[in-house]
Amino acid sequence: MLAGPHLAVGALTGRVVRRAWIALPLAFASHYALDALPHSYLSLREPGHLALKLAIAIVDGLIGVALVLWMARGQPHWRIILGGAVAAMVVDLFNPVNPLGRWLARTPGAAWLVSLHMEGSWHVPFGGDWLVGFGLSVAVLVLVALAAWAYNARQAA
Ligand SMILES: [Zn+2]
Repeated sequence: MLAGPHLAVGALTGRVVRRAWIALPLAFASHYALDALPHSYLSLREPGHLALKLAIAIVDGLIGVALVLWMARGQPHWRIILGGAVAAMVVDLFNPVNPLGRWLARTPGAAWLVSLHMEGSWHVPFGGDWLVGFGLSVAVLVLVALAAWAYNARQAA
């Protein structure tokens, strides 16, 4: 999925779980779980619809960052919330298109992280079926916002 759902789920994990040693691995694993859901394959490296792709990526990223900051705001464990967002996001740096991804891909014991990300992702061609391509990503953002709001309300009560 795009950055937004990963950031939001990672931050929510930190918000609710609160213990870094559980929250950070869970947030990390959430990346693979979200990518296993159907989502549009949006690559800025591939030609076509560049302006539209960029606009979607920017709006999605802004929503994700806004959700993270909203969840972390005023929380004593804000570092775990931000750490959860980063842990959930970092897997997208593992693709072998950058030095880190290429290094991991040929590192014994770590290469499976790269191949699981490549092979475990359910990609829908960009611009095909918009509902299948983006429906679940939007649903994840909405569900995280609702869950965080309900959790805040319960904590305040
Ligand atoms: Zn991914």
